[in-house]
Amino acid sequence: MYIFLKNVFFAAVKKHIMKKNLILSFLLFFYFGVHAQEQRDFSKYEHKHAFHKPWIGNNKFLTDYLQEIGYENQSLPLYSVPVKFYVFGKNNAPDIQDVKETMQNLNSLNLKNNTLISFYLADVKFVRKKKFDKFGYYSQFPFQSFLRHDKNVMNVFLVSKLKKPGKKNKNLEYTGACNNVNHTVIISSKNDASVIAHEVGHYFVLKHPHKNYDKGKHRQEAVNRDVFRGGLFVRGRNCEICGDGLSDTYAQPHLVKNTDRQCNYLSPDLTDRRGDKYMPQLDNIMSYTTGKQCRRNFTPMQKAVMLYEASKKKNADLWQLRRTFADEFEPDFSPQIATLLKDKILQDHNFHKTVLKKNKITDQDVDFMRFTIGKKVNAAKSRIVVSGKAALKAEIFYTENDDLKVFKEFSKKGDEKLEISLEGFSSGSYFIKISEEETNPDNNETLSYSITLDLDKEENNIIK
Ligand SMILES: [Zn+2]
Repeated sequence: MYIFLKNVFFAAVKKHIMKKNLILSFLLFFYFGVHAQEQRDFSKYEHKHAFHKPWIGNNKFLTDYLQEIGYENQSLPLYSVPVKFYVFGKNNAPDIQDVKETMQNLNSLNLKNNTLISFYLADVKFVRKKKFDKFGYYSQFPFQSFLRHDKNVMNVFLVSKLKKPGKKNKNLEYTGACNNVNHTVIISSKNDASVIAHEVGHYFVLKHPHKNYDKGKHRQEAVNRDVFRGGLFVRGRNCEICGDGLSDTYAQPHLVKNTDRQCNYLSPDLTDRRGDKYMPQLDNIMSYTTGKQCRRNFTPMQKAVMLYEASKKKNADLWQLRRTFADEFEPDFSPQIATLLKDKILQDHNFHKTVLKKNKITDQDVDFMRFTIGKKVNAAKSRIVVSGKAALKAEIFYTENDDLKVFKEFSKKGDEKLEISLEGFSSGSYFIKISEEETNPDNNETLSYSITLDLDKEENNIIK
């Protein structure tokens, strides 16, 4: 079906025969697959079939699942998910720093919530075309997400503006969406950290806690957790069927209309159709609070849903190999996304493992850091210290006409401390590349090291 559509599309473009009605039918087809923030509810399309997720009407499935996987006793992520970015636009378009920031936002909120899912940057493609400066929510997103899709990874589109057509939407910008059909995530750059975590929540099939809040008594989630809901295909507690189907995310109204930017709830007297007052969780990542910075938490059942859905993804077996948490500086595998070394601030890094295809394990993680010397270093005490259990290689580069030239090379065995004196370094920008000395593909241990820039206080160097 997909290939057929793609061929039809290309043929149409090539021959310039794309008539308006053809475009319209494509748009309508994809429209129903797109699900996003600030958008209508599509539940009526989802609930017509009899096959529900196993936790619907039976949340015990999720608590049992957490037990079964030994959630409480895990110290490593259960899944390391590779992410491929497509960055769209030409003028004021997102750049590689925005990609780095998005990855760090995603990992930090998942780590904070102990979702046991870690993400690493597998690839970045830039699509530098002016027509993508304002990315069409209904037009470009559905098309592009089918044309540019790597089935081995999680695909993320990064745009500067996500727009819907029509006068009403002229001044509105949308922060993100997740395509229900091909599971491509899209976000606009420079948003709160919760935006990427929210859309990736949808990637793992999480729903909004306020889903169907404006529907009738039968479909609206009740505040009271003991309300029973009968039905032809599924029956049980209302809170396990309605809303997002999770009993530990409380019933809530659409929070954009009922919260302020400071995370205050403005409608304490608002009730559900049974007359019970809402007590919304304003901190939930899947909520729609006005201040997006209010959203920092997933509930245990939301985590169970994500982990269960991760186990059902096509590449789950690959994601479970060679598990490591991405450190807080990842991604930093190239000079363009190097992390700044600041004087006397210790950084803890590890070498993450990369598995993209079966029998194709790429383990050679490298980390780039950068530092700037203000004026020539005279004190022998000024140095970079690298310690930790990893055997590694350190290479220092200087920049000359935008090229990187190797300046010095060092190596250290496991548990050794490496002290690199900066004496004699002249003013300029430097990069330091740290890589594993040798990779043992059978070694599952996470190799870590820490690095510090330690300038003598007599130096009075300006480090930006
Ligand atoms: Zn959403």
